[in-house]
Amino acid sequence: MTVYCLGSINADNVYSVPHLPAPGETLAATGLFRGLGGKGANQSVAAALGGARVVHIGAVGPDGRWAVDRLAEFGVDTAHVVQSDHPTGHAIINVAPDGENAIVIFPGANARQDGVRIEAALADAGPGDTLLMQNETSHQAEAAALAVGRGMHVVYSAAPFDLVALGAVLPRLSLLVLNAVEAAQMRSALGEVTGPEVIVTDGANGATWYFDGQCIAAPAFPVKPMDTTGAGDCFIGSLVAALDLGKDRTGALRYATAAAAIQVTRPGTTDAMPTLAEVRAFLT
Ligand code: ADP
Repeated sequence: MTVYCLGSINADNVYSVPHLPAPGETLAATGLFRGLGGKGANQSVAAALGGARVVHIGAVGPDGRWAVDRLAEFGVDTAHVVQSDHPTGHAIINVAPDGENAIVIFPGANARQDGVRIEAALADAGPGDTLLMQNETSHQAEAAALAVGRGMHVVYSAAPFDLVALGAVLPRLSLLVLNAVEAAQMRSALGEVTGPEVIVTDGANGATWYFDGQCIAAPAFPVKPMDTTGAGDCFIGSLVAALDLGKDRTGALRYATAAAAIQVTRPGTTDAMPTLAEVRAFLT
C-alpha cells in the first residue's frame, strides 16, 4: 500500500554557538551544518527507508529544489511536492556546547499548501493506504477529511502541539502519536482522549500504545545516545512503514523503537535514519 505524507520540508541551519544568544546579543557561530529537515520530510524519509512506498505532499519555494532532490534520493516520491512563490521553510537551530538548543522556524511554503493539489495527490488513494501528518503545514483538516472519505488510515503526530490544530483533525484520526510532553499538554486540556488509538513515546523509557482499553508497552533499546534530534520523527515514520508492510502493533512498536534507537546514536536527523536492513540486523 502507499503512505501519503502531508508534511513540512525545511532547510535546517544548525549553528554551533558558545552559548545561546542573550536578548540584544550578537554572537559568532563556530560551525554551520545545513541539511534537510522538517517533521514531514523526516517522517517521509524514515518511512521510505523502512520499506514503504511514500508519496510526500508538500511545498517548497523557488530556493527549495535541493530539498526535493534530497527527499527523492531517500526513495520518497516527490511528484506531489509543489513549488510555490513563498520561500522554502527553514529552521535556525542554535546549539550550545552542552547540547541545549534554541530554534526559530520560518514556515514559509509549508504554511501555503494548495487544497486542489492535495486532492489531486490523493486521487488514487484508498482503503489500506495511510495519510501521515504533523502540525507543521496548513490544510491538515482538509486532507484528513479527504483521506477518511477515501477509507484511508489517518496517522497524526501532534507536534508542535497546538490544541486548535489537534481539535480540527481529532475526529478523523485512526492513530495519534504524542511524546510525553505533548501527552501531558493534551491530557491537561482534553482529559483522556476517546476515539483514535494513541501512542505515547517517552524517550529512553520507550513507547506505549493505547487501544480498545488495552495497552502495549515497548521498552526503548539501551543505547548510548549521541543526538536525539528527530527521534520522534524516526519512530513515527518507521512505525507507519512497519504497519504498512503488515506488522501487528507489537511488531511495529518493536521495529520503530529499534529504528529510533539506532537514529539517536548518530548525528543529524534524516541523515541519521536507518534502513530496513540496518534495523533487521540490529534486531537479530
Ligand atoms: P521526541 O523526539 O518526539 O521528543 P521521544 O524523545 O519520545 O520523541 O523519542 C521517540 C522514541 O525514540 C522513543 O519512544 C524511543 O523508542 C526512542 N528513543 C528516544 N531517545 C532514546 C534513547 N535515549 N535511547 C533509546 N531510544 C530512544
